[in-house]
Amino acid sequence: MCPFVDIEQITDASIDEYVECPVDSKLLNAKFQSLDYDNCENVLYQREERQKNHRQLLKQQFARWVVMCFIGIFTAIIACSIDIAIHRLSTVKYSLLKSYFDETMKTSYLFIPVLLWIAWNSGFVLIAAILVAYGEPVAAGSGIPQIKCFLNGVMIPHVVRLFTLFCKVVGVVLSVVGGLAIGKEGPMIHSGAVVAAGISQGRSSTFRRDFKIFTYFRTDTEKRDFVSGGAAAGVSAAFGAPVGGVLFSLEEGASFWNQALTWRIFFASMMSTFTLNMIQSYIHGVPWQLSYPGLLNFGQFSDISYTGAEIPIYLVMAVVGGLLGALFNHINLKLCIFRKRHIRTPLGQVLEAVLVAAMTAVAAFLLIYFVEDCQALGKDPIVHPLQMYCLDGQYSSMAAIWFQTPEQSVKSLFHDPPDSYRPLTVALFGIVYFLLATWTYGLSVPSGLFIPCLLTGAAWGRLIGISVRGVFPDAEWANPGKFALVGAAAQLGGVVRMTISLTVILIEATGSISFGFPIMIVLMVAKWVGDLFNEGLYDIHVKLAGVPILPWEPPHLTSNIMASEVMSHPVTTFDMNETVGHVVNVLKKDLHEGFPVVDHINPAPNQPGRSTFGLLRGTITRSQLIVLLKNKAFTDPTTGIRGSNRLTLDHFREIYPRFPKIEQIHITEREKACVINLVPYMNPAPYTVFDNTSLPRIFKLFRGLGLRHLVVVDKNNEVIGIVTRKDLARYRFESHKGSKGLEELQMSFN
Ligand code: ATP
Ligand code: MG
Repeated sequence: MCPFVDIEQITDASIDEYVECPVDSKLLNAKFQSLDYDNCENVLYQREERQKNHRQLLKQQFARWVVMCFIGIFTAIIACSIDIAIHRLSTVKYSLLKSYFDETMKTSYLFIPVLLWIAWNSGFVLIAAILVAYGEPVAAGSGIPQIKCFLNGVMIPHVVRLFTLFCKVVGVVLSVVGGLAIGKEGPMIHSGAVVAAGISQGRSSTFRRDFKIFTYFRTDTEKRDFVSGGAAAGVSAAFGAPVGGVLFSLEEGASFWNQALTWRIFFASMMSTFTLNMIQSYIHGVPWQLSYPGLLNFGQFSDISYTGAEIPIYLVMAVVGGLLGALFNHINLKLCIFRKRHIRTPLGQVLEAVLVAAMTAVAAFLLIYFVEDCQALGKDPIVHPLQMYCLDGQYSSMAAIWFQTPEQSVKSLFHDPPDSYRPLTVALFGIVYFLLATWTYGLSVPSGLFIPCLLTGAAWGRLIGISVRGVFPDAEWANPGKFALVGAAAQLGGVVRMTISLTVILIEATGSISFGFPIMIVLMVAKWVGDLFNEGLYDIHVKLAGVPILPWEPPHLTSNIMASEVMSHPVTTFDMNETVGHVVNVLKKDLHEGFPVVDHINPAPNQPGRSTFGLLRGTITRSQLIVLLKNKAFTDPTTGIRGSNRLTLDHFREIYPRFPKIEQIHITEREKACVINLVPYMNPAPYTVFDNTSLPRIFKLFRGLGLRHLVVVDKNNEVIGIVTRKDLARYRFESHKGSKGLEELQMSFN
């Protein structure tokens, strides 16, 4: 039976009873826990804050900058290593293939290089897929949706672990070299986030090492701020777009933003570009020239100019981009649903990835074999020109697109001289690459989405450019490369639907400020058109995973929904002094993570049906209770003997973020009779709302303050209910079969 349950019943539901459930983007997965971006200012916290002097505060502030600096540096080093590895290995790959092709062209042994090509692709992708499917499944894909969820306040298990970074980095190199229709940029952003989480916490759970530094950054809030910096540094390294990086973190992530944080994130972003610049300059033999800003260098479009008359053409291209983007997302969604239903085992996932790798080689070969497009050598700075059936002194331009990494192909379509490709070449390449890219994204390998979208868009953009040039042969502005850039922007905008950051990233990566306006308009229109049909691909993947993410704004049509309808009740609460036995029993039986702490009140005689759960005094989380039990912070009521010394915040930081399960904590029968005083540990000033608060208002509190639990009280401050992120995330304004309306999602325990 499928575990569709009402959200209210979660406590009663034993997770083991629920097995499999149809994959659907209209389910929320109960397994995702929230992060707590609202600091618990309990007595311990206040005590520690009071003892801090000016020097300590300064030291902490300084440490934040130091950490951001290191985040920038390490992210750039990782990005550079990925780049160099891909560059070296693909040079070997294409020279080898070229030599085999050249040798066997005149014979009937052409199948040899084709088989070699298939074997190379499959071999590399096989290792990448094994690393992900058997090693760390969360390393699959670009990682941007996962980082987005993390910054939004949902814990995605293992997402910022060192082992994930390892799988991601090695995996992305192998998959790009394995010829898949992917890019390395998304994974670089994820890598930046992992580096940030690792450095700021001063320890690695993968290596079980604790360096005992930066311990005061061991809270969800601090970690989130650093992860924002890491993601920005990743964008910055990948595209040479430091400002785009900051805006990316702003647009995609942080719910809570302040100037000081923006400044620090910008610093991390700049440090990343600077480090990259240094390494690249050194590699190119001109140390200190510092003129290699980003890895993804689309080539400078510095001489780009446009006239107002071109804007209508760009608008049409934007509409095409939006439509193609929506189609891309639709096909990919259907494929992913199929995948989740039928390709569930790691072995199946590995085999599928290998199949796609082999098919990519086959498709490329068939295009090269059948499409005759010969160009004279020397026009284009091509590295591995393949003659195929062309005359001496010519090369096949279809082969030229395939015989390089996808990034280089984007660059070629942007900058190659106007007559480098026949229309049929770019058209067929665009269609095949589009289909390959839809199939590839979502495979069990690390894979970025930016490059395949840019490349597909550049192909059809260039096709439009060639046509425009056919109509206006003498017009100077009819440069196919420029149209390729517009097509690339439209396609990418149509798929991912980001606007601010993407515009800035593209402007920074192409160095064309004056062309910024058309790019922005194109991205905006592509987003609007795409939004008419479905959502951006990252959002689709987030929803497919059932992550309870909170969007920017509350869903429409919810202002008549009140807290009393959203909240859960009855509420599990604790008294200020509880016996250990009771706490352990509740934690074992109840799945909740947060509990109001109350003063018990007896029902007043004149109110027989009273349904409140006590006078609110504070809230306490499961993890806090676990730390108390683990450290035996309780008192024996008969002897008055304390189980251990009073705890400090360091006890909590030591275990953060891997708190043991209640079953892992050993409590003797005697200890069960002891009493825990929750007052020093609870949050004494939790946010509360009345039962007649509207959903949009509650939503803004959650989104703006990064809350995890919100207590609903009556006029006497007595607890009547509790609201968590999942209670809000289940309301969605969705379109269904053409009509839009408010939907209430169900929970799955899959
Ligand atoms: P997290 O968001 O980290 O998972 P959680 O586990 O406490 O926090 P959810 O899993 O979001 O909470 O909660 C599932 C459901 O249980 C929600 O509908 C929520 O309102 C309800 N709930 C949460 N805490 C309590 C509680 N102490 N008593 C009763 N119901 C609760
Ligand atoms: Mg939960």
